[in-house]
Amino acid sequence: MFFWREQRDGIEVAITDRWGGSSAPPLEEFNLGGHVGDDPGTVQANRGALAQALGVSPDRLLFMNQCHGSSVQVIEGPWTSGVPECDALVTMAADVALGVLVADCVPVLLSDRVAGVIGAVHVGRQGLICGVIDATVDTFAGLGADAIGAVVGPSICGRCYEVPEAMRDEAAAVAPPSADWSWTGTPAIDVAAGVVHQLRRRGVEVTRVPGCSREHPDLYSYRQAQDTGRFAAVIRRYAAADPVGGVGATRAVGDVRAVGAVRVSEAR
Ligand SMILES: [Zn+2]
Repeated sequence: MFFWREQRDGIEVAITDRWGGSSAPPLEEFNLGGHVGDDPGTVQANRGALAQALGVSPDRLLFMNQCHGSSVQVIEGPWTSGVPECDALVTMAADVALGVLVADCVPVLLSDRVAGVIGAVHVGRQGLICGVIDATVDTFAGLGADAIGAVVGPSICGRCYEVPEAMRDEAAAVAPPSADWSWTGTPAIDVAAGVVHQLRRRGVEVTRVPGCSREHPDLYSYRQAQDTGRFAAVIRRYAAADPVGGVGATRAVGDVRAVGAVRVSEAR
């Protein structure tokens, strides 16, 4: 179920993998995407299992309708009028788990522990160019956050993301480190490198969870197989009084395979 998971200082972040659910091939097993041809009941069951593992009720595990834009939604709790079309969810509420669904795009989880703000962001090539990271950091600042940390989850790597040269140049104009070369020496984009650049430019402290979705057998990849599922990155803030997850609490993360996260030190 979990590719990587960490809980510290009242914030839990988790990246799922594709195992442990009930989705049938070719979406096996733990597909969390509701728009990829999976049985709706199966997706609901998989999401329910994730909510249970995270310790939130299923109606408090929230995913958006991602649309490759820069729209940010600030929410206070479970949906009251449908799932919003946006690429970033932000909340100051405790015990609401915010999720982003990916299969090659970059999942980004943001938090300011002191201000009590968390967010989940979906960034593909288009999101990198249209500025969804800046829009989300601006939203955090508007809520009083000024010491933001980010976890950048696994996504397709630059070597695996071959594109036309003009497309690479367009991304590089916005985020120069995103310019890359593919395994075969053709133009490519490293969207995650561009995302890290955009975060550090805003003074955000970054932790990278390594892994290329196209190369790693535990992750879904759209470039590997277009008929595929979606894995998730989820963030949740505990209520301060929570004896399990409050500030200072620690919790075992038993079933997570060893994945070394990398702290990108000295932001800016
Ligand atoms: Zn790769």
